[in-house]
Amino acid sequence: MAPRTEGTAIGIDLGTTYSCVAVWRHDRVEIIPNDQGNRTTPSYVAFKQSECLIGDAAQNEVAMNLTNTVFDAKRLIGRRFSDPLVRRDRELWPFKVIAGANDKPMIEVTYKGEKKQISAEEISAMVLTKMKQTAEAFLGFEVKNAVITVPAYFNDSQRQATKDAGTISGLNVLRIIVEPTAAAIAYGISKKYSKVGPKNVLIFDLGGGTFDVSVLTIENSIFQVKAVAGDTHLGGEDFDNRVVNYFVQEFKRRHKTDIRDNPRALRKLRTCCERGKRNLSATTDTTIAIDSLYNGIDFECTLTRAKFEELNMDLFDQCINHVDKCLKDAKVDKKIIHDVVLAGGSTRIPKVQQMLQNFFNGKELCRSIHPDEAIAYGAAVEAASLIRVDNPKIRDMVLLDVTPLSLGIRLAGDVMDVFIPRNTTIPIKKEKRLTTGIDFQKNVDFSVYQGESARTTDNILLGEFDLIGIHPAPKNVPYLNVCFHIDANGILHVSAKDRTSGRKNNITINSIKGRFGKVEIERMTKEIRKCI
Ligand code: ADP
Ligand code: MG
Repeated sequence: MAPRTEGTAIGIDLGTTYSCVAVWRHDRVEIIPNDQGNRTTPSYVAFKQSECLIGDAAQNEVAMNLTNTVFDAKRLIGRRFSDPLVRRDRELWPFKVIAGANDKPMIEVTYKGEKKQISAEEISAMVLTKMKQTAEAFLGFEVKNAVITVPAYFNDSQRQATKDAGTISGLNVLRIIVEPTAAAIAYGISKKYSKVGPKNVLIFDLGGGTFDVSVLTIENSIFQVKAVAGDTHLGGEDFDNRVVNYFVQEFKRRHKTDIRDNPRALRKLRTCCERGKRNLSATTDTTIAIDSLYNGIDFECTLTRAKFEELNMDLFDQCINHVDKCLKDAKVDKKIIHDVVLAGGSTRIPKVQQMLQNFFNGKELCRSIHPDEAIAYGAAVEAASLIRVDNPKIRDMVLLDVTPLSLGIRLAGDVMDVFIPRNTTIPIKKEKRLTTGIDFQKNVDFSVYQGESARTTDNILLGEFDLIGIHPAPKNVPYLNVCFHIDANGILHVSAKDRTSGRKNNITINSIKGRFGKVEIERMTKEIRKCI
């Protein structure tokens, strides 16, 4: 292929269940169909005896190759094995997840007859490679540059790990942007909010695995995020789980047997439940019918929309609570929200729409953007803007994002000393003076945390570093200048300097344990090329 990479940059929505790729071409965004003609691609990777499949092919065969078909990598990425949410998911996944070095979760599969351990970053890199190839087949030349989206509520380590996945796939990640902001761009561009003053927009983005709410003001081409809220572990798959559990109980009641010891039966049930759930967005009841579900027993049962809603009501309530919290954090009254915009496949659920509409006192919701494509659309616009495509629609575009969680340092007694509160506009730099707690202390360990609790043990440890060679002095005397800097990608750099001795040290959160070095990334890139 001709190396015409500089001129083009793609936008990739790397979803929990589906991914989507788009490009700015001929003065507009085009959503790129894959080799099956589909505009979204399942985020599935299947390891087989002779080959490796990604996307539709992997998803289609999932029931045949259960333990070696990997999905939901986004639910693992940047998390630790000991994370309670990882433990909960592991019980439901047919593939095996084990603890690797530094508490990193590793997926164990059999590929070409051999056991192989693979990280969530590598699985995501394979999905990204598929999206890159999809774009290249469509455009007819190699593509290097990309903007990749993450949920607004992803913490630093999840964002870094996603960026690594991009690098492993051979992409040059121009920027990581957050999904609701990308959806807002898609909405803002199509709406052409101009010359009419600032508009307050709420994005409600409910996908397969994650939920984000974001309040923005849009004026001309300036997108200013006011606040974000959400849950990186709430979405369509959780609704499916509720339905699956309900039918497992029903099967038990009818046949006095538990199908949970049979992963294949569970998978069949899950696939039908997901399909049933989709049907219920259009009809008021649906039939779940599976021949020979377990030990030759057929299963047939009706699921009503009312039952589906009852099974998930607490989760729907959680969504609305996040909307309320986001508006409070943004200090915006719901009455002055001009538009409520829906994104993500799960916003097709009528009850979700109804509850959201009621919350906004009957206000009509905006359904003008495509729920499955808007995020990739926005990412493609941002990608074009970053490589300075000359078009009046995007020429002056400015994105002002916020940090979703508070960032700080651990002080003595487990106290979280917040440097950057949540929902602060980024990029940002904040400095503070810290000091020593012991007379003639020479070294200080700094632990960087992210989260909202006053106690650091309840927050997420992002990284640690130490400052060695502090000029000897009684306690409380040294002036240790500590600086937090979040760059335009939302990535954190922390530094500390002793003013007297001039000694300094710093950490970029990409150097935390469990992240890959350059050599390792190159090795993984090569290995992936061999697979696909
Ligand atoms: P993600 O980006 O997290 O992969 P998407 O935005 O692509 O998520 O949405 C996928 C989710 O939307 C899946 O859980 C899917 O079951 C759900 N979904 C898609 N269509 C419908 C529908 N008609 N009714 C209810 N849920 C739907
Ligand atoms: Mg998505």
